[in-house]
Amino acid sequence: MLMTKYDARKNRSFHPVSAPDFLPRPQLRELQLRRLKAIVQRAYDHVGLFHKRMADLGMTPEDLRTLEDLAKLPFTQKADLRDTYPFGLFASPMKEIVRLHASSGTTGKPIVVAYTRQDLEVWTNVMLRSLSACGLHEGDIIQNAYGYGLFTGGLGAHYGAEALGATVIPISGGNTQRQLMVMKDFGVTAICCTPSYFLHLIDQGAESGIHIKDLPLHTGVFGAEPWTESMRRRIEEDSGIKAYDIYGLTEIIGPGVAMECVCQAGPHIFEDCFYPEIIDSKTGKPCPDGEEGELVLTTLCKQAMPMIRYRTRDITSLADEPCECGRTLRRIKRISRRADDMFIIRGVNVFPSQIESALLKVEGALPHYQIILTRERGLDVMEVQVEVTSAVFGDTVGALEGLQEKLSKSIETTVGLHATVRLVQPRTLQRSEGKAKRVLDQRKM
Ligand code: ADP
Ligand code: ZN
Repeated sequence: MLMTKYDARKNRSFHPVSAPDFLPRPQLRELQLRRLKAIVQRAYDHVGLFHKRMADLGMTPEDLRTLEDLAKLPFTQKADLRDTYPFGLFASPMKEIVRLHASSGTTGKPIVVAYTRQDLEVWTNVMLRSLSACGLHEGDIIQNAYGYGLFTGGLGAHYGAEALGATVIPISGGNTQRQLMVMKDFGVTAICCTPSYFLHLIDQGAESGIHIKDLPLHTGVFGAEPWTESMRRRIEEDSGIKAYDIYGLTEIIGPGVAMECVCQAGPHIFEDCFYPEIIDSKTGKPCPDGEEGELVLTTLCKQAMPMIRYRTRDITSLADEPCECGRTLRRIKRISRRADDMFIIRGVNVFPSQIESALLKVEGALPHYQIILTRERGLDVMEVQVEVTSAVFGDTVGALEGLQEKLSKSIETTVGLHATVRLVQPRTLQRSEGKAKRVLDQRKM
């Protein structure tokens, strides 16, 4: 089944809008520099905060002569969006702004972003190129289960899919039984949602007798949260589809900043629209080529809200080796960590993705887990709850203990810390319709 679904994807031609994906590098760099100069000038002329920061450094847009000069410009951070809430970073008058979005804003006020008509076109195009990169085209039936509304996921994917000529089902997030019914009855061929929600669909489907493996669904466009390579394998094995990683963030445009091609070798950044840098989070200095650090992005074509050197807090590295697909766009390594998600336990930095890959190495563990941090007599304690197959629960007590020990050991070798592992029945941990919440930090309470 897996093979038939996959073979159908091969040898498709690309949509004409994807042409910039294949620009020779020198030509791409020329285009980037031209766009960069224009965008820096625009931000300087229309965004007070940026003008002031440039002035403080004694700089004007004329100081930007090469792409490398960008490293001299000031950074923009999430706090800047909050401090200027709601409209303080807009570079266009309201009469030119045709859409506003906002991100959840887990701490206090959300951040607001704006789009001119041209910005929406750019966004539609990068989303179209994203969907085309993983082999989708006219005739595909795309179930868009990203949330519609203020969140950028839903509408971003929607317009891209429509422009591609695919059939879009704007189902939005949630209502799992209806999602499954639609997937089956409408002959859905591709789905857009978070990887954790797709796992939930696989499980719920199996429970109600809808096995995704037997449906025409062949492609998943998964993003909005970190996930690991082991998670991808689980998803592909359990559903028979190909799972692709899409990356984006509200501040830069929404989904469609970077997307994997059929080679599944890490998302290609749409570099004609977004200029990437990798910096050392602590010093703010550029990292040497290929080294891991914080991704910094500059929007090259955004009118309503240009972002100059935006610090994403996402940790990755840039790969410039050619990709077999022929795209000249560089790739980012899968973003499995976000600086904000890191937790420190007994002085050790840990990312949920490390726990995830440690767990999924062990047979019997399901890709549903939660990390609970508490403090006992002044000491940090990490408990990892993980669902295991029902077969495991039917096993002897000894077998259960053996599995528990294996998982605990796997975590210990991965992060160098002891964790108490608690095995739980399948489908007992809370599921999310959007981004999964992996860590429950109860230490502050
Ligand atoms: P919020 O900041 O409220 O979560 P966004 O929806 O803008 O709102 O989320 C963007 C963030 O989601 C990114 O900065 C990144 O941390 C995460 N993200 C998005 N896509 C991916 C992906 N494919 N892999 C890992 N993380 C991702
Ligand atoms: Zn490629």
